Amino acid sequence: MRIVIAKSLLAGLLSLLASLAISFTFVPMLGGEVAGAGLVMTIVCPLAISIPASAVLFSQSERVRRAEARASDALAKLAAAYEELRLQSRQDGLTGLLNRSAFLEELQLLSRQGVTGALVFLDLDHFKSINDRHGHATGDEVLRRTGQILATYMGQFNIAGRLGGEEFALFQGGLAVEEMSRWCEDIRELIEGMHVRSASRSIVSVSASIGAIHCVSGFDPDECLRAADVNLYEAKSLGRNRVVSSV
Ligand code: GH3
Ligand code: MG
Ligand code: MG
Repeated sequence: MRIVIAKSLLAGLLSLLASLAISFTFVPMLGGEVAGAGLVMTIVCPLAISIPASAVLFSQSERVRRAEARASDALAKLAAAYEELRLQSRQDGLTGLLNRSAFLEELQLLSRQGVTGALVFLDLDHFKSINDRHGHATGDEVLRRTGQILATYMGQFNIAGRLGGEEFALFQGGLAVEEMSRWCEDIRELIEGMHVRSASRSIVSVSASIGAIHCVSGFDPDECLRAADVNLYEAKSLGRNRVVSSV
């Protein structure tokens, strides 16, 4: 409000100066004299007209400016909320890893970028009996902890996701064929070494079976996932808590 008054007074002053300059230039040229009532009108008219007119104009433009600021603030909040929702829609709520569709999307993107690497399909062993024996909450805790382990592998060309239930997938970009088995063994050991206690404080033993496949440049994500799944199935048939990998 103070700015509007100051700007209006300034406009009034400029109008007054312009009015005086015009009167003192042209009235003598026309043979007259700026004095008396004429001088009063030269001073009063510009002030009486320009100050209220400027006040209306400046307060309206101030209102528009504030409305624009509020609108751009609301737009920024909306964009942030949209981004938050977009990220949430790609995340698995329990583990924080990518969900199935986001994982497949990212895998497709890595394939298009020509990245090679290892694709792991991991399934927790006898998970149903963990739920049955220790309760669903303990089962959830095992899933969360598995997610924490797998999340440590995420990086620029490395992705981790929960494909559903107790099934997870991991892609490690740039991993050489000869490094793959050791790398998978490390993951298997980390899961086996996970210390989870049930609500009744009993130790929950956890293990995972892993099927892995090495993906070449421009790989077909669905085909690789299917091949990793075949290896996983074999790891299960061979007795679980083991890795089966192929090139
Ligand atoms: P296998 O070694 O052959 O993989 O046996 P499994 O018991 O792990 O596999 P199965 O497919 O028989 O059981 C999977 C169980 O996972 C059944 C389902 O109730 C449980 N499950 C799926 N999603 C969740 C979840 O979000 N939380 C919990 N606690 N359990 C889940
Ligand atoms: Mg299982
Ligand atoms: Mg399963």
